[in-house]
Amino acid sequence: METGRTIGILGGTFDPIHNGHLLAAEWAREDFKLDELIFIPAARPPHKDLQGILESNHRYRMVELAIEDNPDFSVSPIELERAGYSYTVDTITHYLQTYPGIKIYFIIGIDALQIIYTWKDLDRLLTLCRFIVVTRPGYELDKNAACFQSVPAEIWERIEFLYIPALEISSSDIRRRVAVGKTVKYLLPSQVEKYIKENCLYQDINGETYE
Ligand code: ATP
Ligand code: MG
Repeated sequence: METGRTIGILGGTFDPIHNGHLLAAEWAREDFKLDELIFIPAARPPHKDLQGILESNHRYRMVELAIEDNPDFSVSPIELERAGYSYTVDTITHYLQTYPGIKIYFIIGIDALQIIYTWKDLDRLLTLCRFIVVTRPGYELDKNAACFQSVPAEIWERIEFLYIPALEISSSDIRRRVAVGKTVKYLLPSQVEKYIKENCLYQDINGETYE
């Protein structure tokens, strides 16, 4: 990766990846003139109960399938290969050390912004990258809203907001729909839908799933 490049990173559990993730990534790439966009599936997100999360090889493969037609998108196994919890600060540090001179934007949805105060080494993280916060249906974008009370003041200086067309899609909803045999067509790329079917994923959760 050349010095001076600007990259975007979208982290997530991607259980499974869906059109909301893809749209957020593509609009961020265009608006912020990002040279490339890297999807990074988390091995063990600290804020999610590992129980019930699909094996990482399936989650990784579904991201690969979802992005195969977009040359600006790539996926990295860096968090899956690292032992223990997946902390964003470790991932960003790795990229900055491996590719000195690059600039990083980390993309999150508003729901993630609300709990950002729980992230490891947030103060240091804020000095390492900037954040693009994308709108998400059901979450209000108002700095004074009660849900943002715990967001540290200094973070507002490191954030850019990006309005994207509202897609009320979530992985948890997709998992629930698959489990009860409902259609998930057009919520995610058809290759991913096919992969879920072929591998009989999300069948045994009885509609109950972690949030
Ligand atoms: P789950 O329901 O399992 O939590 P999810 O749909 O929220 O899944 P994640 O993998 O948790 O997906 O999300 C990764 C990132 O993508 C988060 O920062 C989240 O806010 C953002 N994101 C997810 N879905 C959307 C969406 N529909 N619109 C905008 N941002 C989204
Ligand atoms: Mg989520």
